[in-house]
Amino acid sequence: MAFDDLFVAEIKHALKQEGCPLCRLARKAEDRYLFFFLHEHMNSLPTYEILAKGGRLCRHHSWLVLDRATRQTGLLGTAVLYDHMTGLLADDLRQAFEASRGKTGVLDRLSRRLLRRKRPEGANPQFCWICRSIAGTEDTFLHYLCKHLEDNAGMKEIYAESDGLCIPHLKAAFARASPSVGSFLLDKAVSDLERLKSQLQEYQRKNDYRFHHEPWGDEKTSPERMVRLCVGPRDSPVSSSRDQQSEQAR
Ligand SMILES: [Zn+2]
Ligand SMILES: [Zn+2]
Repeated sequence: MAFDDLFVAEIKHALKQEGCPLCRLARKAEDRYLFFFLHEHMNSLPTYEILAKGGRLCRHHSWLVLDRATRQTGLLGTAVLYDHMTGLLADDLRQAFEASRGKTGVLDRLSRRLLRRKRPEGANPQFCWICRSIAGTEDTFLHYLCKHLEDNAGMKEIYAESDGLCIPHLKAAFARASPSVGSFLLDKAVSDLERLKSQLQEYQRKNDYRFHHEPWGDEKTSPERMVRLCVGPRDSPVSSSRDQQSEQAR
């Protein structure tokens, strides 16, 4: 099986499941990453190097690591990791405090310079390295999805039948897709939104006491499906990684 085919097979499989295929693949990548992080990398030299370069777990991944560790490995590794981080976090706080102080005198400027020197050579602004890793996986899958929507009729057919990409992933796909793939994705999203709109209106009608007795159909789940389309499924890693990317872009 060629390298391309592995990605295509995974994408096609995800397209046949409920919800955004990219969110599903990102979730799988996150699960895989967390498994190896908890079982192998948490207290390794590469992790400490990432921390020294400004790596900090975001809110979503901090809690996820703690929750998974509680269930899977126990919290000893987490205690070692955060023990190591206390000094780094104290430096982060000192720098945030200094940065908040505005124009100051010569002594303050000197102490700020000393604090800055504490930061290791080449250190980046803070970033969540798990978010970065998942964003890289999302980009790879988006590349293969857009490429195969261009010239693979089977992929087009499966996509047309699927729930399609969520809005954050659609926007990311537009940046990578050719004009024809972009408009194919857009047309499907717009027609899905129109169908959801009529289901949401039916949902409202059925809540009217005059029609209460009518049985529910697909419209019953339309509010939840609408939220899923807007932001991806509940606890999707996409929200935190894309939010963080746009934070960094600002
Ligand atoms: Zn998505
Ligand atoms: Zn994160």
